[in-house]
Amino acid sequence: MSSFVVGSFWFLVFAGGGIYLAYNRVNLLASTIAVGAALIAYSLFGSASVFWLLVLWLAFVPLIIANMDDFRREKISRPALATYRKMLPSMSDTEREALEAGSVWWDGELFSGMPDWDKLISFPAPQLSDEEQAFMDGPCEELCRMLDDWDISHQRADMPAEVWAFIKKHRFFAMIIPKHYGGLEFSAYANAMVISKLASRNTTASSTVGVPNSLGPAELLLHYGTDEQKDRYLPSLASGDEIPCFALTSPQAGSDAAALIDSGVVCKGTWNGKKIIGIRLNWNKRYITLAPVATVLGLAFKLYDPEHLIGDKDEYGITAALIPTDTDGVTVGRRHNPLSIPFQNGPTSGEDVFVPLDYIIGGQEMAGKGWKMLVELLSVGRAITLPSSAAGGSQAAAWASGAYTTLRKQFGLPIARFDGVGEALARIGGHTYIMNAAVSVTSGAIDQGEKPAVPSAILKYHCTELGRKVANDTMDVHGGKAVMMGPKNYVARGYMATPIAITVEGANILTRSLIIFGQGAMRCHPFVLRELHAAQNENEERGLTEFDDALFSHVGYAISNAARAFFLALTHAKFSNVPLNTPTRRYYQNINRYSAAFALASDFAMLTLGGKLKIKELLSARLGDILSSMYLASTVLKHFENQGRRAADLPLVEWSVRTLMYHAQEQLHSFLQNFPNRPVATILRFFIFPRGRTYSAPSDELGRKVVNLMTHSGEARDRLSQQAYTTLEPGNPLGLLQEALLLSEEMAPMEQKLRQAHKERLLASEYFGQQIDEAQDAEIISKAEAGRLRDYHQKVLDLLAVDDFAPEDFGRSGAVEAPSGAQPQADPPKTKRKTKNKIVRKKATASKSSKKKKVRKTKAS
Ligand SMILES: Cc1cc2nc3c(=O)[nH]c(=O)nc-3n(C[C@H](O)[C@H](O)[C@H](O)COP(=O)(O)OP(=O)(O)OC[C@H]3O[C@@H](n4cnc5c(N)ncnc54)[C@H](O)[C@@H]3O)c2cc1C
Repeated sequence: MSSFVVGSFWFLVFAGGGIYLAYNRVNLLASTIAVGAALIAYSLFGSASVFWLLVLWLAFVPLIIANMDDFRREKISRPALATYRKMLPSMSDTEREALEAGSVWWDGELFSGMPDWDKLISFPAPQLSDEEQAFMDGPCEELCRMLDDWDISHQRADMPAEVWAFIKKHRFFAMIIPKHYGGLEFSAYANAMVISKLASRNTTASSTVGVPNSLGPAELLLHYGTDEQKDRYLPSLASGDEIPCFALTSPQAGSDAAALIDSGVVCKGTWNGKKIIGIRLNWNKRYITLAPVATVLGLAFKLYDPEHLIGDKDEYGITAALIPTDTDGVTVGRRHNPLSIPFQNGPTSGEDVFVPLDYIIGGQEMAGKGWKMLVELLSVGRAITLPSSAAGGSQAAAWASGAYTTLRKQFGLPIARFDGVGEALARIGGHTYIMNAAVSVTSGAIDQGEKPAVPSAILKYHCTELGRKVANDTMDVHGGKAVMMGPKNYVARGYMATPIAITVEGANILTRSLIIFGQGAMRCHPFVLRELHAAQNENEERGLTEFDDALFSHVGYAISNAARAFFLALTHAKFSNVPLNTPTRRYYQNINRYSAAFALASDFAMLTLGGKLKIKELLSARLGDILSSMYLASTVLKHFENQGRRAADLPLVEWSVRTLMYHAQEQLHSFLQNFPNRPVATILRFFIFPRGRTYSAPSDELGRKVVNLMTHSGEARDRLSQQAYTTLEPGNPLGLLQEALLLSEEMAPMEQKLRQAHKERLLASEYFGQQIDEAQDAEIISKAEAGRLRDYHQKVLDLLAVDDFAPEDFGRSGAVEAPSGAQPQADPPKTKRKTKNKIVRKKATASKSSKKKKVRKTKAS
């Protein structure tokens, strides 16, 4: 046997065997025995020089040491722990609470570098109960029918009284409230589907309904309220007698919400004629949804106790309380104008508002726990309202764009046939599919008891960003039709509204730069939080044992991820284990590959940058993008399974996963390109991209398939816009567009006849309307056929039409009163602002009379 063959054999034994052990995460002891056995065999039967044998045996020593528990703990882990403690980034309590909120779900698997797909596949597909379905088909459908966007947004700047009454009567505000308090007690999935449907029709209604069902007084009470508070508020919140809002944001504290200066000072005061210990509150909040019409205000403030009336602390920190808006000193009523989307939103302030201590949500023992409460609830709420609104709006956009671009002809062809338009259409379809999948799968997980903090941040950011992309593309493919405002414009309002979702519940730049990876690394990484907790353990010895265990498991995990990333990249993940043998199999394998690469890159980023990673926002954001792409792609695959693996949807699935995973590849490449430690970046690139960047974006052909299913009636088009309000009725553009699309398919043979006749010069006119008359006269088509063609032609013309107005229609006198001037920027208000619309409650009352609970309207409404 030649020495080359022998050498190759031993190389295979060591390199292949090493990769095999690491790839499969064989435990430390078994790996040590296997490597030791191979070394003994090589020493006995191999032909290496003494020098090489020495090198190999020396390389084996760390593996032996790793098995010597006491030695490694004292000589390696103890000094490592001391260094680690010095490196730990400083972290405020609020940051820690935010990072530790919620549960770890599929995000944890993606962080592991070796996702266990069975865990995702075996999750039950979310379904509406009969009652929830009846609500969607009944009150939800009816509410959509009642909503007239032009009337609401342009003429009234509010929803009509009958719409408000309908919303309250059918308990739209009470989807999350249990039945025994009079609520609907819907699943998270049903909540999301209702919001999606409303958002497909009108953003004012979906925002108005979304807020009370998201982070707000009801949710806070359900989780943290005392029984007395629940009994007092939940029934009237469910019936709509109480309108809630939640006020956190203030002029000084936007993204950095914990920096609020609104204060509550524990003091003695008079309440209902009695001397009690209560809280004197001062606040100045802005941007608060529903505040202008709210009867109960969830308020976040910092609680101080300078006289130590309730304990020995001076300061308790952020606290949440429920304040009836008719309490003396509370100001609500004025409105902001959020991009002309007239849901109720405005400032609120309070000056020396005195309330009892039991107004604190959860009572006195929850003093100072407000921030924890908020971030815990955000880990669920953020995955529902905004993502489902974005998905619903996009479903409407996909439905409308597919039909419109088929009906609108230029250069003698439906514009959908032009590849340039098709490219935008494919993005609309694919992005909508991604949002649908993310919302459905994640809300399903919430219904199974998860509180997926990191996925909820991923959904908040990506669904609203994808929603913005869909809105942009929808504007583009509609051309001037989408630009001219008026009742006939069904596109522009959604486009105008996109920055709202981008900004609220954690503005997007911040969410991408700080939250997704920052929280993911702490929460989902299998060892980082364990190491952190061990380092913070006050019992030094126990801390050391825990740290040692976490550290060595972490090292093994990093080695495994290096082996997995390298092998999967070399083989295009073709041999990687996945649970299904379906047309989507390769996509699971690709996610496996990127999961390992991402885990490896994350570890080295944390190891070399430590706490500095927090301020290297672009690196952190790119890692977050990779995690997000894998998460969203996983939901696409799961959604496809949940919907019964329909072949017609495959182009959407393939386009979506390809787009996401291509983005993951490019972001990983940019991460390595910008990684400050260049030698480490080079080593990482060797393991992650040994064959370069080989993954490609969706092909043009795949894009055309997506366009095809969006522009033709059929199951895939229906499923893509499943929740959208598409009922055929006057005033519903989505229903009318579908009617015209179906007619266009029916009329296609006759249109072809006319085209052919025109080509043969049997018809003189260039214009379709005149061609119909000529064709009838020439008996090319029958009278009945001509009648149907005329009807179709008229319907299309109506849909393509835009509005125009008399010059005098442009004045909107008195619609919105002149602003009151700048809001105070530095301190809580010292004096009451005198404004026409201000509502200052005159009398302090422990409980207000229900007669007073009428919805207050400003002149603007
Ligand atoms: C229509 C609407 C409704 C709202 N409803 C409510 C409500 O009901 N209750 C309530 O309490 N609040 C509400 N808000 C407030 C909302 O939560 C805040 O607007 C949001 O937190 C951002 O604060 P800001 O607008 O002051 O922006 P800023 O904090 O000034 O941020 C400006 C920009 O800087 C970015 N940024 C800031 N810090 C960082 C960082 N460290 N890294 C990267 N980027 C960063 C942000 O992402 C953003 O893009 C609402 C806002 C709007 C617009």
